Order: sequence, then structure tokens, then C-alpha cells
Amino acid sequence: MAVSTLPPQVRALQASLGPKGWVEDPAVIAPWLSEWRGRWQGATPVLLQPSSTDEVEVIVRACAETGTAITPQGGNTGLVGGQTPQGEVLLSLRRMTAIRSLSATDDAITVEAGATLQSVHDAAATIARTMPLSLASQGSATIGGLISTNAGGVHVVRYGMMRRMVLGLEAVMPDGSRLNQLSALRKDNTGYDIKQLLIGAEGTLGVITAATLELQPRPEERVVVFCALTDPLAARALLARAKGETGSMAAFELIGRRGLGYVLKNIPGTRDPFEDPYPWYVLIEFEAHEYGVLRKTVDEMLARGLDAGEVLDVVVAQNDAQAASLWRLREEMSSAQKPEGRAAKHDVSVPVSSVPEFLARADAACSALLPGVRIVAFGHMGDGNIHYDVGMPAGMPDEDFLTWLGPIHTVVHDLAANLSGSISAEHGIGVARREDFSRLEDPVAYKTMKGIKALLDPQCIMNPRVLFP
Ligand SMILES: Cc1cc2nc3c(=O)[nH]c(=O)nc-3n(C[C@H](O)[C@H](O)[C@H](O)COP(=O)(O)OP(=O)(O)OC[C@H]3O[C@@H](n4cnc5c(N)ncnc54)[C@H](O)[C@@H]3O)c2cc1C
Repeated sequence: MAVSTLPPQVRALQASLGPKGWVEDPAVIAPWLSEWRGRWQGATPVLLQPSSTDEVEVIVRACAETGTAITPQGGNTGLVGGQTPQGEVLLSLRRMTAIRSLSATDDAITVEAGATLQSVHDAAATIARTMPLSLASQGSATIGGLISTNAGGVHVVRYGMMRRMVLGLEAVMPDGSRLNQLSALRKDNTGYDIKQLLIGAEGTLGVITAATLELQPRPEERVVVFCALTDPLAARALLARAKGETGSMAAFELIGRRGLGYVLKNIPGTRDPFEDPYPWYVLIEFEAHEYGVLRKTVDEMLARGLDAGEVLDVVVAQNDAQAASLWRLREEMSSAQKPEGRAAKHDVSVPVSSVPEFLARADAACSALLPGVRIVAFGHMGDGNIHYDVGMPAGMPDEDFLTWLGPIHTVVHDLAANLSGSISAEHGIGVARREDFSRLEDPVAYKTMKGIKALLDPQCIMNPRVLFP
């Protein structure tokens, strides 16, 4: 749809939104139509950039009146294509970045949807608090996008996902009305909790404009260790030990050797923490609110892990710089795969106890399906979430590998479902996983979701391509 074919009620918004709020210049719009992995290329008649909730309301009302479809967008770091418009109006929240309130007494921050996660971290630090959601995209990912995808990240094992941190929400619903539920309440049992519907809805049920988020006391001490292991069974045993024997585990990340090898080869400035290669690794972070006791507890736990044969070798970060360089090995796992060619990517979760079985069975099934695949498995093992990337065999032409993507996704997703897992642990459904979602989701849950969508957005104007095929 060209701007000239937009309904007059929508085109009339240009005057009130002004040049910053109404953008038609293709050069300015272009970066927001392609995404991080270069998988989807979008198209839009116009980029709308409101500066206030009032302006979002006016936009959505005009779109609702005319049945004009909207794709909301935050930082454009989503990995399942939900933020990339295909002809819809592109509604960016990036100009709405204000911190409306910050309170150490309430342990809460109220912030507009376009603020980045990093800016919330920085604000929380000024009152000696922390926002415990951490992910590699936090410099660009926005609060609206993180809530809409119910983002996870590395600290889920201790603090849960975004859903657990949202105390209140302000949103513009698909008919243009405003949901006013910004509050720092921990207790509120007044009927259905409507904000929960918008969390993880991927922009299909409304536009999030602001949120009140729970903050936590800032830990006084952190210890980061990098362990070498024989296999995922050892990782599972070490996970139980680290959790149970310290009570202070905040992250437990699994890393396979091939993935670490790609990081060391393709990311300048990284180096192997060990002299020799090992088949598997885990990065574990511990935190405590009292200074001086944590290191001893962790050392004793690791000694018992070494005695039990769960740990083959270990490096303990001696300062913040060393901790950051160990974390970098984990955070660069996705970027480091890019030079190695295409991969069928998955973001699955299974019960923690089933992670070793999932990895063994998925490796066997994918290698049987397409011999020579180069598998990179890594991720948040502490909560059962594995990023399982099946790389193309060396030397295979891209076009040939593309024909294998569907069969590989089916094998991996079926296996996750078979182990009572999920085909999307933290990235969402977007447009990438719609078919497997409709095939594998519990039928009652799926039908209920479609009913909620039809009730709240009967014209299907909010992100119409997302979730449902
Ligand atoms: C290097 C890298 C690492 C990552 N690591 C993680 C990780 O560890 N854990 C994790 O969970 N994710 C991770 N992600 C994915 C991504 O960062 C998250 O999905 C993030 O929540 C998206 O935020 P965003 O502001 O970029 O949203 P966008 O990408 O702009 O949008 C994502 C979805 O939310 C919708 N949306 C955006 N803003 C709004 C709004 N205000 N109201 C309604 N709907 C909206 C969009 O329509 C779209 O469907 C990673 C991504 C990258 C590139």
C-alpha cells in the first residue's frame, strides 16, 4: 500500500504528528524493514513515530476506524519476524523513552515503551537497585518489545521471565481505547489480570506504551566461573549441585565446543580460557547480597564437582574484566556463526531433566536426516532453554540447504514437543513458527487464543500476520 492509497483519516495524521512523527523517506525507513539475521525484508507505506501515549491513541483510533493494519516496533531486535511489516503501517515506539518515576521505596520504575533495557539498568543503578533481565541485545531492545515477547535472557533461573517483572501496564487497545493500569502493586486480585494478555502477545492485542517494572536489590558480589565438562549429563549434575549447594546461582549457560570454536575463530579479541579443548562447557554466575562469603561457598562446591568428575577443569574470574571476557564468549555465540553459513535455528525448551536426552536425540535425528550438519547447541540450560542451531554441511550450496530448513524444524520441534517442551522458549512465534505452533500447541489453548484475538481485535488490525497462519 502506498501512502497515497492510505485512507484519508490516516493520511490526515501527518499534520498532527509532524515531520518527526510521520516519515515517508525510504532511506530513513529502510533500516527498520530488515532485521538482525537478514531473514525478512519488510515493506510499509509510512513509518509513524509518536512521542506520547496521546499520539498513539490518535493513530490507533484512525487505523481502527478505517481497518488499517499496524505493525508495532521497538528496537527491531526480535528474532521471529514479528516486527517487520509486510505492507502494514509501521508504528515505532522509539521516541517514547521517558522514565516517568523511579522509587527505591516501591522498588519500581515506570518507563515508556521505547526506553531500552540498558537505560532501565542505568536508571535502576542510580538508586542501588537492579532490573534482573539481561540479554545480549539490551542496548537496543525496548521495554515494549521485551514485554511483548515476554523476553527471557540469562537470569531466568533466578528471577523468571519479563512477565514476572511487570507490575503495571499502560497500553492502547486495538479500538484506540487506553488501558490505564500503571501501578506498583504486588497484590491486586480484582478479576482477570488483563495485562497478562498483552505480555507475550507480540503486538497482536494492542500497543504497549508504558510499564511499571519491579526492581531488585543490587547484589554486592558476583562470582563468574567457566567449567569444562565431558557431556550434558555432567552439566545436569553440576546444575543441581550449583543450585542446591550455593543457593545463589543466577545463571547457568551451556556451551558446546563447536560454538566456542566459532567464537574463538570469528570474534576478534576472544581467547580460550583453557589450554586444551573440551567437548562441553558451562558458564555459571553466582550472586550474593553480602560481601565476602560467596567465593568460599562457590570454591567448595566446585571442589566437590571436580571430585565427582562432573567438572574437568575450571576458571574462576578474578575481577570484573575477566568476568566480562568469559561472558563475551557466551554472548557472541550467535554472531560467531554468521561467517560459517546458514543454519536452521531453534529456541526450544524442555524440562531441565530432559536436556541431555533432547540433545542426544536431536543430534542423532538431524545427522540422520542430513549427514554432515554442523550443530551448535548452547543456551540457558538452567531453565531448560536450548538454542539449537543446525548449520549447513560444509560446501553445500545455500539453495540446497534452504530446502532442508522445513524438515529440520519439524524434527527438532516434534522432539521438543515429545519431551513436554516448547517450540518457542523465549523468542515468540512471530511469523517464523506459526505453522508448527498451530500443529503442536494444545488445541484448547490454541482455540482460546484465537477467541481472545477475535474478541479484542475483531478487525485483525494489530500485527495481523503474527501468531496465526
Ligand atoms: C543478539 C541478540 C540476543 C538476544 N538474546 C535474547 C535472549 O537472551 N532472550 C530473549 O528473550 N530474547 C533475546 N533476543 C531477542 C530480542 O532481543 C527480544 O525479542 C526483545 O524482546 C525484542 O525487543 P525489541 O524492542 O527489539 O522488539 P522488536 O523486535 O521491535 O519487536 C518484537 C515484537 O514485539 C512487538 N512490539 C514491539 N514493541 C511493541 C509495543 N510497544 N507494543 C506492542 N508490541 C510491540 C513487535 O510487533 C514484535 O512482534 C536477542 C536478540 C538479539 C539480536
